[in-house]
Amino acid sequence: MAPDDSGRSRPTTAAHSSRSDAGAGGLQCADCGHRYGYLGREPHPGRCPACDSRAVPPAGDLKLTAGRLLPEWAGVDLRFRDASGRVFAYALTAVGPKTFTILEATVDGSAATADPGPDSPLVDDSLGETLADLVGTPVSFTPAASADE
Ligand SMILES: [Zn+2]
Repeated sequence: MAPDDSGRSRPTTAAHSSRSDAGAGGLQCADCGHRYGYLGREPHPGRCPACDSRAVPPAGDLKLTAGRLLPEWAGVDLRFRDASGRVFAYALTAVGPKTFTILEATVDGSAATADPGPDSPLVDDSLGETLADLVGTPVSFTPAASADE
């Protein structure tokens, strides 16, 4: 499944903001699960108002700063910087020709407590787009197979 939200119903009263994820309740902390909104023209500050964690979604656009690839896409490490100056790092592995599992997502070097799956607040469209550029074809993400149960 491609990360595509076009099937979802959207509010017809589109705000002036170009990003839909920063609206009321559109941000979520990957550490404590707090949901909050941010309204403003500047990128949000990148800090959870409830627990002060920096493991909240990227502010503005992620910019790729470093990448490391192992042969056969066995391991992919990508680093980005967002508009608030945080470093987002992702460790991925290929589980299929175009399918990747996110093993770890960290912000400023600390891993979020939540599962870094495709629905994690820390996973931005930029990750999929960057990976698609590297692979040369659209890619999708799949949650890691649970090791127990
Ligand atoms: Zn929090």
